[in-house]
Amino acid sequence: METIENKVVIITGASRGIGAAGARAFKAAGARVVLAARDEAALNEVAKEIGGALVVPTDVSDSDSVRSMVDRTLSEYGRLDAAFNNAGANYALRPVAEIPEEEFDQTLAVNLRGTFLCMKHEIKAMLANGGGAIVNMASTAGLGSAPGLASYVAAKHGVVGLTKAAANDYADKGIRINALAPGPIFTDPRMDPQQVGRWVPMQRVGRPEEVAAVAVWLCSDDASYITGAILPVDGGKLARSA
Ligand code: NAP
Repeated sequence: METIENKVVIITGASRGIGAAGARAFKAAGARVVLAARDEAALNEVAKEIGGALVVPTDVSDSDSVRSMVDRTLSEYGRLDAAFNNAGANYALRPVAEIPEEEFDQTLAVNLRGTFLCMKHEIKAMLANGGGAIVNMASTAGLGSAPGLASYVAAKHGVVGLTKAAANDYADKGIRINALAPGPIFTDPRMDPQQVGRWVPMQRVGRPEEVAAVAVWLCSDDASYITGAILPVDGGKLARSA
């Protein structure tokens, strides 16, 4: 995809799963990639596999850490063009009354506060070079619900709202901000893809590359008139309500 070539792109949660697939997809499209997550050794593995990247160990729930992720990007490349704010975490399945307060706070800290902090620092850098594109990671759980996932559902609904609000704030300043809402994607070996796939109209779970490809496209100039969109990547899951 030529329209992402040479652009400087931050990918959070790049140490495994969808983020690592994002690293491969952005790099294959010719972008200069910055890989962020907490596990430096895993990030280095991904960087080696894709033939080179700037690795910046980052905790997205910590403002200083996120600020230095953006500062390191600017000192290495002099600009920031795009970001795939993919880092996220989920915890044990439990009904609302059983969720420990610390677990609720932690889920919001990574998924919602993390997305806010990334945008806060990335947008300042993008404004300095006249614009950019951000793709946040929501979920079908950010548009609907699922049993036992209340903290995650609340956090991802927050990501959806934050994305729309930020898109409004920066639409006239050259920054496009969208979010992805994936259905079940096979990133966790504990998932039974056959069983989970039966809940999806396409009768299968998604692959990380199928999400990453959409993130690359949304960050590219090919998506130049799209902002504030929450795009399902879910095999038709959200289209089925009965
Ligand atoms: P995953 O394999 O568990 O990867 C999560 C990534 O987030 C890892 O790279 C992890 O790296 C990073 N991360 C977690 N906490 C972090 C923190 N505090 N600071 C920085 N990075 C942090 O998950 P995944 O399945 O690829 O999911 C990626 C995103 O897609 C998440 O936002 C998830 O909610 C969303 N999503 C996934 C699915 C699915 O079915 N897989 C569906 C819908 C949405 P470190 O541990 O190294 O920090």
